[in-house]
Amino acid sequence: MNNKLSNAKLYDEKWIERLAITIFDDIAVLTKDRHGVSRETYGKGETDAINYLSKLAVELGLHVEVDDAANVFFSSKPIVNSRYILIGSHMDSVPLGGNFDGLAGVLAGFLILSYLSKNKINLSLPLKVIALRGEESAWYGRNYIGSKAIFGLLTKEDLNSTHRKTGEKLSKAMQSCGVDINKIQSSTSLIDTENIELFIELHIEQGPILVDRNWPAAIVTGIRGNNRHHNIICKGSAGHSGTIPRYLRKDSVFAGADLITRMDDHWNTIQQHGGDLVLTSGIFHTDSDHHAMSRIPGEIFFSFESRSQDVATLDALEALLKSECKTIERERGVKFEFDDLIKSSPAELDEVIIKNLLDAGESLGFERASLPSGAGHDAAVFANVGIKTGMIFVRNDKGSHNPYEAMDIKDFMAGLSILKKFLIDY
Ligand SMILES: [Zn+2]
Repeated sequence: MNNKLSNAKLYDEKWIERLAITIFDDIAVLTKDRHGVSRETYGKGETDAINYLSKLAVELGLHVEVDDAANVFFSSKPIVNSRYILIGSHMDSVPLGGNFDGLAGVLAGFLILSYLSKNKINLSLPLKVIALRGEESAWYGRNYIGSKAIFGLLTKEDLNSTHRKTGEKLSKAMQSCGVDINKIQSSTSLIDTENIELFIELHIEQGPILVDRNWPAAIVTGIRGNNRHHNIICKGSAGHSGTIPRYLRKDSVFAGADLITRMDDHWNTIQQHGGDLVLTSGIFHTDSDHHAMSRIPGEIFFSFESRSQDVATLDALEALLKSECKTIERERGVKFEFDDLIKSSPAELDEVIIKNLLDAGESLGFERASLPSGAGHDAAVFANVGIKTGMIFVRNDKGSHNPYEAMDIKDFMAGLSILKKFLIDY
């Protein structure tokens, strides 16, 4: 870091912004790949970024701690036997990803902590900032690895999962980062949950809503859970496209399309009544060994995913899916075969934190902007173990999980200022 920043006289918002730009730029260069950045889960880019930040923390006079899962904590001094406020996000990225996913949230906490420490401002409770490892599922097919490890939630299957390219086990990669794997395997919590007053994660928005509404930042109302079927099969019967009349056909594509249209109508109705829901059928195909222009398709394979903040909506949707399949089976002579449903619970964010974050934003002149999170975040792990949790989204153009993520530093400062105000008022 340049010395002007560490030896500045005035530690104000301008100082925070200049330091933010320096760190974002340095870490982008440090972890750059062919396109964008690669900060591999329990791998090189993630470790390089963590080491950079740890070194800078020492230069800024902060205290650095590493837990048994190699997550890193920053505070102004050691915190012993005291409740504290925890702020943070993850340090890893997807392969060839953008610079802001995860890093923005760690930096927001890190910069506020540095600002408070330099200005000798004490909050009502001490502040800890966490740089989590391993949030992205892109490397080992598992997400929230660092945060799950904190609460003793990693399973044997998680630890045995293999790297997308090298085939190396996650446990081995963790060990090479200094993780005490026996401790992780014993499913013990690495942290005294009782001491955490609350957890807040700032994150770039990974959808288009903030850009569309012209909101620099917004408060997250909840994190959607999901119901997933990876492979549903619709069986009809194959036949010559020219010879079989409509009433004798058992066309699996028409049946599948009918199902999706019906589910789209339900989605529309649920949404019109104020329900939170998104539906996707991201895989939808005939068997390519059999498909042909002039053949009535005998079989299709498709995925079906519903996401909502509300478990009752997810359950209702699942029931609707099954009942529509029954109707279509009767009307079109086909048969649907379901795989096992895989569920992931929605995370409830704390109502009081949401309100206080909205108040903090409003007092700084921002709109009371709020929305649910469609993507999963580490915050869901903290919320689901019972810690009061909140989230702030920062506007980000061009989507996420790609090298083109475009977060304006002014928007980052807007999100950071809301978080800072919330902490000071707490
Ligand atoms: Zn992320």
